[in-house]
Amino acid sequence: MAKYYSLRNLRFLVREVFQASEITKYPHFSHLDSETLEMVFDSAVQIADTIAYPAAEGMDKEQAEFANGSVTVHPAVEKYMKAMGESGLLGAAGSLEMGGSQLPVMSQTATGFVLTAANNSITMFTGLTAGSANLIASFGSQELKDTYLPNMYAGKWQGTMCLTEPQAGSSLHYITSSATPLADGSYKIKGHKIYISAGDHQFAENIVHLYLARIDGAPAGTKGISLFVVPKKRLENGQFVDNDVKTIGIFHKMGQKGTPAIHLETGSNGGTIGYLVGEPHKGLTYMFQMMNEARIGVGITGAAIASNVYYASLQYANERPQGQKLTIKGQDPNTPQTLIINHPDVKRMLLFQKSIVEGSISLIMQASKYADLAHVLEAGEEKEKYQLLLDFLTPVVKTYPTEAGQHSVSQGVQVFGGGGYCTDFGVERLYRDIRITTIYEGTTGIQSQALLGRNIVMKNGKAAMLYFQEVQNTIKEANTYDALKKYAQKLTEATQLVQKVTQHLISFAMKGETERFLSDATLYMEMFGTVAIAWQWLLQGIYAQQSLLKGGLTEDDTTFYESKIHTMKFFFAYELPKTSYLATRLLDDEVLTCESEKVAFV
Ligand SMILES: Cc1cc2nc3c(=O)[nH]c(=O)nc-3n(C[C@H](O)[C@H](O)[C@H](O)COP(=O)(O)OP(=O)(O)OC[C@H]3O[C@@H](n4cnc5c(N)ncnc54)[C@H](O)[C@@H]3O)c2cc1C
Repeated sequence: MAKYYSLRNLRFLVREVFQASEITKYPHFSHLDSETLEMVFDSAVQIADTIAYPAAEGMDKEQAEFANGSVTVHPAVEKYMKAMGESGLLGAAGSLEMGGSQLPVMSQTATGFVLTAANNSITMFTGLTAGSANLIASFGSQELKDTYLPNMYAGKWQGTMCLTEPQAGSSLHYITSSATPLADGSYKIKGHKIYISAGDHQFAENIVHLYLARIDGAPAGTKGISLFVVPKKRLENGQFVDNDVKTIGIFHKMGQKGTPAIHLETGSNGGTIGYLVGEPHKGLTYMFQMMNEARIGVGITGAAIASNVYYASLQYANERPQGQKLTIKGQDPNTPQTLIINHPDVKRMLLFQKSIVEGSISLIMQASKYADLAHVLEAGEEKEKYQLLLDFLTPVVKTYPTEAGQHSVSQGVQVFGGGGYCTDFGVERLYRDIRITTIYEGTTGIQSQALLGRNIVMKNGKAAMLYFQEVQNTIKEANTYDALKKYAQKLTEATQLVQKVTQHLISFAMKGETERFLSDATLYMEMFGTVAIAWQWLLQGIYAQQSLLKGGLTEDDTTFYESKIHTMKFFFAYELPKTSYLATRLLDDEVLTCESEKVAFV
């Protein structure tokens, strides 16, 4: 089996940089210690190696299909869901009382990364089940928890998130699915949902849809949306009966072909019953929990797919002879060809990928640590700080690994030359798979508006201030190492530039020019994300430098830390300067995309 992730890198992040096992000193995680966390990780690797990875190609070729009213998916899905349920990984976030494993988010990120790098289609089934079960656990009644959670955490029932409707994609304000109250407290549901991932298949005994709908007479807009559990089979007098929830079609996709995305119809015969989760009209607020978890999950997917392609292209570059080294004067046909890894351009493509993959997963780990601290700390200022940092960074964690991940995968395909474009090496599949990650769970455009339009000004700028303080702390520490001072200075300058651009853009918001304020939000996100990854590289550089200075390392460890420092330098030299161009654009007075501009598309 080819290498698709680096265990050494994950250990570096989990053990050295983020010291994940420290979180077990808090009472919430007192049932765990570093050994149990290792065991959890090992079982994820086992499932990834033996079930997920071997099925990845087959799931692409034998894609999910819909015929005669049924959706059929690859047989590996059954084995995988069972293994994930039995290992406790599906219930990783669930509480112990509800049959979950109550694992730290950092641990979930590490295991999710490995499993998704192995097979990003198969992890959709469990990711959605876990996310929807967590939503019931957080906001559902005891009855809903008792009815649904055990089978969901066991991998027997599939969970989904049902937001999108034909007229309501990015804008959920326009949801029209309806919910009519019934005398027993349940609701009659009617509507259409599209693109519902893992929305139906032969291996789930039941499908539990977490469904957004509008109660009759509810206010317009997002304030009138409620959340319901809408099962495919509902419990009635101790029996599971059909709930009039139908798959009426399947979407044929560019990638992630093993996961069905279905068109779901409810209430066509007037028989769909839904159960309200929490209070009426608060559905979108509740759903945000799942969406935020899912956004981090999509960030992991971007980084994980890019990881798979990076290691595939690295192996290929070490095996493929082509051309002669540029150091050889003149071209001599009798000189044997060199391996392509010896060409600077190929090295650049590999370093680019490595810097994106390892920078991204570090940022995701950072956010995961904030999530854990926000969870375990007693109510107070520190808890609020970590929650704000998590909320602030979530759009970046979703967007950078997926946008940059696509470029990374593209460069990986390029390393293979013509072979990359053909099906033989599997990288064209991953190139197709990663494309969705900047679209679902909020497109890049929407995430960028959330960062600039909402998070930057969140709590009067408190979240942004906390974030810049975190970056500052890293810069301060890096300045204590001679070898890192140059990079600390570069990060200082880039951070100041981000702050300058932020102030410039906020001035439009203050004048009420919202369109101008947000018109280039996506470019702002690109700039902000690149500087955030530079921060993570400097942080990794500190730990690598500390180990190198301490000495007494094995040859492998020395190579590993030197490679970290080299990749950090690469990111600062090749990627960070792109922020100057972005700043130039973002500070430019010329606006070409706003309504005030007469744009002619001919
Ligand atoms: C494979 C797949 C799986 C999916 N899985 C699920 C699922 O499980 N559950 C679920 O509920 N949904 C799911 N979705 C739906 C997905 O979340 C939406 O497709 C996505 O949110 C975008 O909505 P849309 O397709 O309607 O595009 P639109 O909202 O029409 O957007 C089209 C373009 O316009 C831009 N745009 C839209 N509004 C604005 C704005 N206000 N400002 C600036 N730009 C804007 C967008 O950024 C985008 O570039 C899935 C989609 C796919 C393709």
